[in-house]
Amino acid sequence: MVTNPEPNVIDVDQAVNEIKAIIEENPFFQYPLYNLCDCDELEDYECDFHFAEGCRYFNTNNRPMCVIGHWLDSHNINTPSDFGVNYINEMEGSNVSEVLDLVQQNIDFVVSDDAKDFLTHVQQAQDTGTAWVDAFNNNLPFSLQSERLESK
Ligand SMILES: [Zn+2]
Repeated sequence: MVTNPEPNVIDVDQAVNEIKAIIEENPFFQYPLYNLCDCDELEDYECDFHFAEGCRYFNTNNRPMCVIGHWLDSHNINTPSDFGVNYINEMEGSNVSEVLDLVQQNIDFVVSDDAKDFLTHVQQAQDTGTAWVDAFNNNLPFSLQSERLESK
């Protein structure tokens, strides 16, 4: 019997399929921009969408907010210990690669480099006001163009 010594690695095909399923639930969602949000004006206001000037992965109740937060939550990655922190908001303000590095250090969860690139590009598009469906379609790798979703 041959055993595979490598841990399970999430490849780009899997990441695309999982992000697609999340986006199909709410394709035209646009993440609110910080400079157009009420939290820009109110001092000490805990905004569920923003942390400092960035987009939040999880809100104050540890529920997912951004597309990557939803994807992490779909893998049950949604507690401080998954990220090796005391409070989940300590991981806010980090980019996808930094967050996945934290996760990999704390639990058995490994993502391939091309999957990380795809997730990073989707996040960047979302964070600059692109609707989820377009953030997905515009960043599909060439080999996965057949996964495109219907846009407006
Ligand atoms: Zn806000």
